Amino acid sequence: MLVVMAQHATPQEIDGVVKAIEEMGYEARPMPGGQRTTVGLIGNDGRVDGSRIESLPGVAEIIHVSKPYKQVSREWRAQNTVVTIAPGVSFGGESVHVIAGPCSVESEHQIVTAARAVKAAGATALRGGAFKPRSSPYSFQGLGKKGLELLAHARKETGLPIVTEALDEEGAHLVAEYADCIQIGARNMQNYSLLRAAGKIRKPVLLKRGLAATITDLLMSAEYLLAEGNDQVILCERGIRSFDTTTRNLFDLTAIPIVQRLSHLPIIADPSHGTGLRDKVTPMARAAIAAGADGVMIEVHPNPDRALSDGAQSLYPDQFEALVVELRVIAQAIGRGFGALPGAGVRVLGTSAVSRG
Ligand code: PEP
Ligand code: MN
Repeated sequence: MLVVMAQHATPQEIDGVVKAIEEMGYEARPMPGGQRTTVGLIGNDGRVDGSRIESLPGVAEIIHVSKPYKQVSREWRAQNTVVTIAPGVSFGGESVHVIAGPCSVESEHQIVTAARAVKAAGATALRGGAFKPRSSPYSFQGLGKKGLELLAHARKETGLPIVTEALDEEGAHLVAEYADCIQIGARNMQNYSLLRAAGKIRKPVLLKRGLAATITDLLMSAEYLLAEGNDQVILCERGIRSFDTTTRNLFDLTAIPIVQRLSHLPIIADPSHGTGLRDKVTPMARAAIAAGADGVMIEVHPNPDRALSDGAQSLYPDQFEALVVELRVIAQAIGRGFGALPGAGVRVLGTSAVSRG
């Protein structure tokens, strides 16, 4: 339930609403807005009788949020949430951003080479798994803490913020010490103890859609993070399982405009896992930006043929460079800027939209 205060409601009147909600046994969250303050009632509000609140001084209106998810819904917050993972690197604002890097961190040479290449091409964040959720226990599981140290080294070398995955609650605390954004992967989208832990840590979270998750499931999982007080959440469409084995997953482009209508949270796309096939990554990345995604995450490896994981879907650095040139044009065509790191010179296509990021 949302309590919309009158435009000129006094702090005392807002306080009165907060107290009334708390007396009813719920948590109250005042949210000052440009025009007026709203006060959210947090908890299972199915049985709440709003009439007591409605008659309080300064209350303009009561809105019952009809969706099963509350705080992630557009009903709860009309304007977009902007998630900033590092200075100048924000998702959900005017500019789109590109996160890129290898599937896994493999060695110092590999991650630093990858980081330099993706930065030169225009990426504004580096990805790379140190803890890998592999389908087989015999596949490469990642370098663990050593991988996080190598990511921190690559950040120091390039200035790129780091997005990397945590597999469990304990890992989330360790990952948070190194990462600028904690990734919760598809296989863990419904790991509720991990979601609660990441919600408490209060670092930006990249939450990927589960392999068999509906859009409602994805938003319900995001609700766990917001329920713990962390609204710094970026959603990610990364493809879902389908009966068609032609691609690794079925990349659900419609999820992007659907989520943007239902939620105020930013959403990006991962066409690398979405397709699993190198030559399909470029067309689907173009399509994702055209569909309105707030960014893309792309796997890029200095030498994909030797990659320890997901080589077949990893772009060569020159392919990635060509893709970024195209993404800038597409972003501009739909009236969006293209993110750049603060202080970075803007390359190619000297248009106003390009330099806005
Ligand atoms: C990844 O990003 O490396 C990854 C494992 O992705 P997903 O969770 O989408 O499979
Ligand atoms: Mn991968």
